Amino acid sequence: MPEENSFLTAIDAASDKINKLADTIWDNPETAFREYKSSEALISFLRSEGFTVEVGVAGLPTAFIASFGSGHPEIGFIAEFDALPGISQQALKPLPVKLEGIENGHGCGHHIYAGDAVAAALAVKAYLLSSGAKGTVKVLGCPGEEGGSGKAFMAREGAFNSLDATFGGHPERFWAVRTRPSLACCNILYKFDGRASHAGAAPHLGRSALDAVELMNVAVNFLREHIPYDHRVHYAITDSGGDAPNIVQPHAEVMYMMRAKDNADLNALCRRVDLCAQGAALATETTFTSDFRSASSNLITIPTLQRTLHQAMLDVQLPRPDDKDIAFANELAKILIDRTPDMPLYPDKILPLPDHVAPHFGSTDTGDVSWNCPTVQMHVGCWIPGTPNHSWQVVSQGKNGFARRAMLYAGKAMALAAVRLMQHPELLAAAKREHLERTGGKYEPAMPKDVMPHL
Ligand SMILES: [Zn+2]
Ligand SMILES: [Zn+2]
Repeated sequence: MPEENSFLTAIDAASDKINKLADTIWDNPETAFREYKSSEALISFLRSEGFTVEVGVAGLPTAFIASFGSGHPEIGFIAEFDALPGISQQALKPLPVKLEGIENGHGCGHHIYAGDAVAAALAVKAYLLSSGAKGTVKVLGCPGEEGGSGKAFMAREGAFNSLDATFGGHPERFWAVRTRPSLACCNILYKFDGRASHAGAAPHLGRSALDAVELMNVAVNFLREHIPYDHRVHYAITDSGGDAPNIVQPHAEVMYMMRAKDNADLNALCRRVDLCAQGAALATETTFTSDFRSASSNLITIPTLQRTLHQAMLDVQLPRPDDKDIAFANELAKILIDRTPDMPLYPDKILPLPDHVAPHFGSTDTGDVSWNCPTVQMHVGCWIPGTPNHSWQVVSQGKNGFARRAMLYAGKAMALAAVRLMQHPELLAAAKREHLERTGGKYEPAMPKDVMPHL
């Protein structure tokens, strides 16, 4: 390692502690906004490392921002730590086996996401101490990524405004800088109310809320032909009005999820879906309420940060699997249906930055971070290629030796990129210029002002 990168050894020195921290989060899988143990573990760890921690950011009990140093440049590392419901799984098993007494699981690998942020922050802290340079490093403790849009609530309160650049490292099946933007997205629950009646003896007295839900869905399905190709509409019937077909259903609910290229397009799409609800209510003589649950803005990408992070990834030695990792992967690989013979046993190379960015139709609440400060993310290649995301196979790999080393590698790569930004103000200036070009300096959140988090 070149002398000027010696701050990265802070991650090696703290590796046991960081691994233990990630294990604690994996051992206590907590779903969106209920991540009390995970948040507490992160906060006490960072306090013990000399960070000042603001807890309960934006009224979210498990959100926090930990800071070390003073003044600008101010660099943030995103830590996510929420788990997925109903995906309990024992570690390092090549078949589905539930963990006794546990219902949730880290099926998106957010314990790795938290661990790589902490690792990166420790290395930047070491740089600030050894160089005497001015600057602040922050760990952005962001709860409720899975369906909660935690970062959007934090962004609405200005939590990311002062940052000069922000990094995030999400687990994946390959190594790359994230270059694809994501769609703006929101969740709205439509609740219809009608009137119950005997479906055989007095059907004319009933007003079916379930009919309204079905009519709304039919209207939306016709609407699909007349919306831009990059828009998405999904729904789930969350209350069908009861189990008895001989009672006219007096209540029914449908959860809608809409996605569009940006927040303005999303608003326009929501208006049209709302018209479908109005039409359905009119036709069925029912009433409805719409409960706006959460929203995430589209993701703004910053080429200068992508190039800086990509170079840093190339400059740090990628992790290698050991014999134990290989034995486990050989077993698990047998049942990975997404796997093709040309795939390596573990991600072993960094994908180049693409000339052309393909569209991506997912969404992330990191979008709201990206509207408020130049933001870049890396795909942390810690999973066996062919592993489906949000699966027990991900949970099973959560404590794999390779996943741990991948987490520490990601921490090093992000820290190296961050320090290069601190040392080269012209890079930060370019990143800010690109950010301004893309946002126009105006953040209009997809989340309306009056929507509160569903804690
Ligand atoms: Zn996820
Ligand atoms: Zn995730």
